[in-house]
Amino acid sequence: MKILFAASEVSPIVKIGGLGDVAGALPKALEKLGVDVDVIVPFYPVIDRHKFKIIKQLSIDVPFDGHTWEVGVYKTKLPGSQVDVLLLNEPRFLAGGGVNAFSSLKDEIERFTFFSRAVVEYVKAQFNIYDVVHCNDWHTGMITHILEEEIGEERPATLFTIHNISYQGEWGMDLVQELGLSISEHRILEWDLEDGNVNLMLEGIASSDMVNTVSPTYAKEVKFSDVGGGMSEILRGKGKRFVGILNGIDYEYYNPQIDPFLRLNYNTRTYKEGKKQNKIELQKELGLKIKNVPVVSIISRLDGKQKGLDILCEALPEMLKLEMQFVLLGKGDKKYEESFYKLAHLRKYHGKVSINLGFDEALSHRIYAASDIFLMPSRFEPCGLSQLISMKYGTLPVAHGVGGLKDTVKDDSTGFIFNVFSGNGLLRAVTKAYKLCGSKKWQEMVTKAMKKDYSWARSAEDYLDVYKKAIDYKEEVPVLENIGFKD
Ligand code: ADP
Repeated sequence: MKILFAASEVSPIVKIGGLGDVAGALPKALEKLGVDVDVIVPFYPVIDRHKFKIIKQLSIDVPFDGHTWEVGVYKTKLPGSQVDVLLLNEPRFLAGGGVNAFSSLKDEIERFTFFSRAVVEYVKAQFNIYDVVHCNDWHTGMITHILEEEIGEERPATLFTIHNISYQGEWGMDLVQELGLSISEHRILEWDLEDGNVNLMLEGIASSDMVNTVSPTYAKEVKFSDVGGGMSEILRGKGKRFVGILNGIDYEYYNPQIDPFLRLNYNTRTYKEGKKQNKIELQKELGLKIKNVPVVSIISRLDGKQKGLDILCEALPEMLKLEMQFVLLGKGDKKYEESFYKLAHLRKYHGKVSINLGFDEALSHRIYAASDIFLMPSRFEPCGLSQLISMKYGTLPVAHGVGGLKDTVKDDSTGFIFNVFSGNGLLRAVTKAYKLCGSKKWQEMVTKAMKKDYSWARSAEDYLDVYKKAIDYKEEVPVLENIGFKD
């Protein structure tokens, strides 16, 4: 089976958040199952072409907005594998991006509709050899339509994965005109355009042969609650074509035993000494007091809608009365960047609080390794990778019991779950963890958490199964009435 995995980022070549981790790890796990996967992403200027030995393969012509644009197709291997990564280079539409999370601005929407158009031209240039095109999030939402338009019934099957339904990529009619699609040929598109807007997430969901999201609980939540961002009815209507598959993490990359970013590597046996040394190193690095106290940390996009930063800010003044240190690594909403920055500069928190505003991969590993407690107070969380990483590093997560957090953190066993989404709810859970920290029960919980297996091997088998279903279902006519569609 030959798969083309289309995404906006792929770690370690370019990473903005969890999607990059998935795109960097799932193809490798699929390769181990004998699946032939290529990954395709935009060639952002921030990508280090020398470090990743990127070389030009060919050029393709991409029609867009009434013109033809020459796109360079570059190639490298996904580090640690034989998976080909294709990078599409074009100076007008693909010249920016790759630094901040994509926020659905006009130029980003244009960038990714252009990218989607270019992906299809690449499929054509490869003589349509792919069995499935695996699309990810709104950035790739138009791919199925364009494949249909360009290749017709012979098109590859499509799987659309929702990593986060709260970003949907909405824009006006002009977008469709730029793509040059004949609207009347695409009934879903015509229906979507009735309100004058095109919603790329909706397009991806409605038109793809199979759809999945990244944890079983989030799959239920998006079907039956307002977490669904207005897509609940459509998702319910997809019936057996919509499933939840839990993400994994790459233990070759996130593993305290072999992690090159750490001062001292450790495993379940040597965990105590490992934590101690890494903590001292981190305290030195961040200007914290060198002291044997619990370190509580958070590494996150500072996304006010999702990541529970409001309840964190509510809980922090009380939390900081405990004898502990607090470390934050994150970047995003200016409002939160400013309030955390102010907090760090309060005299009373000198040596106790470290706020690091930016994206720093190496530092993130050292924080996972040095901390005792990791905070994940997300209002909603499609899967969440940070709690999986922290468990592997023996850092027990305190998490809100939603989405993938509920599926992966077992309360009082591998971490702490709170169900009331409030500053108090979070504070109570942190206090409970704090009191247990260092006890015999704590050691047992840490060992359990470190031994949990959330590797990609299991999820990759589920994806393989879904690819096969996508191929089968492509032949069946989708029941559009179920998704609120009226002919
Ligand atoms: P999301 O995909 O919503 O951003 P996840 O928990 O799924 O959240 O994945 C977040 C990933 O991004 C983790 O690998 C985490 O360590 C990393 N990350 C988030 N913010 C930063 C940052 N500021 N610096 C370094 N890594 C970060």
